[in-house]
Amino acid sequence: MAESNFIDYVKIYCRSGRGGRGSTHMHRAKYLPKGGPDGGNGGRGGHVILRGNRNYWTLLHLRYDRHIQAEHGGNGSKNKSSGKQGANHYIEVPCGTAVYDAETGEYVCEVTEHEQEIILLKGGRGGLGNFNFATPTNQAPRYAQPGEPMQERSFILELKLLADVGLVGFPNAGKSTLVNAISSAKPKIDNYPFTTLEPSLGIVSYRDGRSFVIADIPGIIEGASEGRGLGLRFLRHIERNSLLLFMVPADTEDIRHEYDVLLNELAQFNPDMLNKGRVLAVTKCDLLGMDEELIEMLKEGLPDDIPVVFISAVAQQGLQELKDILWKEMNSESNKIAAINTQESLIHTPKRFAYMDELADDDEGWGDENSDDDDIEYLDEEEIEDLDDFEYE
Ligand code: GDP
Ligand code: MG
Repeated sequence: MAESNFIDYVKIYCRSGRGGRGSTHMHRAKYLPKGGPDGGNGGRGGHVILRGNRNYWTLLHLRYDRHIQAEHGGNGSKNKSSGKQGANHYIEVPCGTAVYDAETGEYVCEVTEHEQEIILLKGGRGGLGNFNFATPTNQAPRYAQPGEPMQERSFILELKLLADVGLVGFPNAGKSTLVNAISSAKPKIDNYPFTTLEPSLGIVSYRDGRSFVIADIPGIIEGASEGRGLGLRFLRHIERNSLLLFMVPADTEDIRHEYDVLLNELAQFNPDMLNKGRVLAVTKCDLLGMDEELIEMLKEGLPDDIPVVFISAVAQQGLQELKDILWKEMNSESNKIAAINTQESLIHTPKRFAYMDELADDDEGWGDENSDDDDIEYLDEEEIEDLDDFEYE
């Protein structure tokens, strides 16, 4: 697949910090030849934490920093002093980033809000120092706990655009023209080159200073849900929209059929898409001279379970009515619930995962450079058995 600056998938390799080991230090002093154990506890290893950040619009920044390692916890030392806690590693991501396990494709979590934090990998807990283990019968234990090991896992991050209304239509349906006609501003999106193949967002200002976001997705082609062409790549972007606006030109031979084909494409991609609110816009109605009678005739064969609106972006007709309908549908209770449910069930098919994996652009992982756990002094079997009953705090 050709390189694109629009980074919507990235694979990252993460390791949390391991816990510091507890110390086995024995206190010694001139006047106290047999001082007690005073080895402190190890510090906790750093977590790997995902954090939503509304200042990011792409995953580009992660492309060049894919090996993520949180800091290890410090070891405990004498005088019961605890090891330093390893610093957490924060991965800043745009809101709307979903996370999948890179090995299995299993859905892990999703960041939807600014400053929302989700721990991806927990740092290892620090081991307890020997002073914890002194008992009347063993006043000078020479063992301490090792820290817990680090966790290691790779993830695929997937960015979905957040827009209220997603446009669904074949190429030339008039999607771009509509976005330009009704959106007053383009949100500032760094690193998004606006070629015709990139999804673009427009802010539509509505009455009373309210606004909503509309996403112009490059044309869906027939068979897109089977991975043909570029369509599938962009279908993801409408998964999250609360409302779908289907667009079919007025001069299409069978408008109803074209609508059904589009609907079918979406269903194959993700059946949950059918739960979303839908509006059908018959576009380019200036070609019919906006003729009332003709429009009445056209209405006959069209779906009657969703709102249908006749528009012309070029002649600026029907646009206010369209905005009113979109606003109303977007805010209807049932559509709001459907939108939330779809977001919560970000299921994916194996086919979709294979595709995602390819786009995530695999690389060498951590390679052979194995974990540098070697410098931890692990206890022998017997010592570990001794500790088996011990509960971490
Ligand atoms: P997209 O591929 O869905 O984004 O479609 P475009 O917005 O690029 O439009 C495709 C073609 O249809 C262009 O030549 C537009 O000028 C034309 N077009 C778009 N909207 C209208 C309209 O309301 N009336 C007419 N007559 N042509 C339109
Ligand atoms: Mg276009």
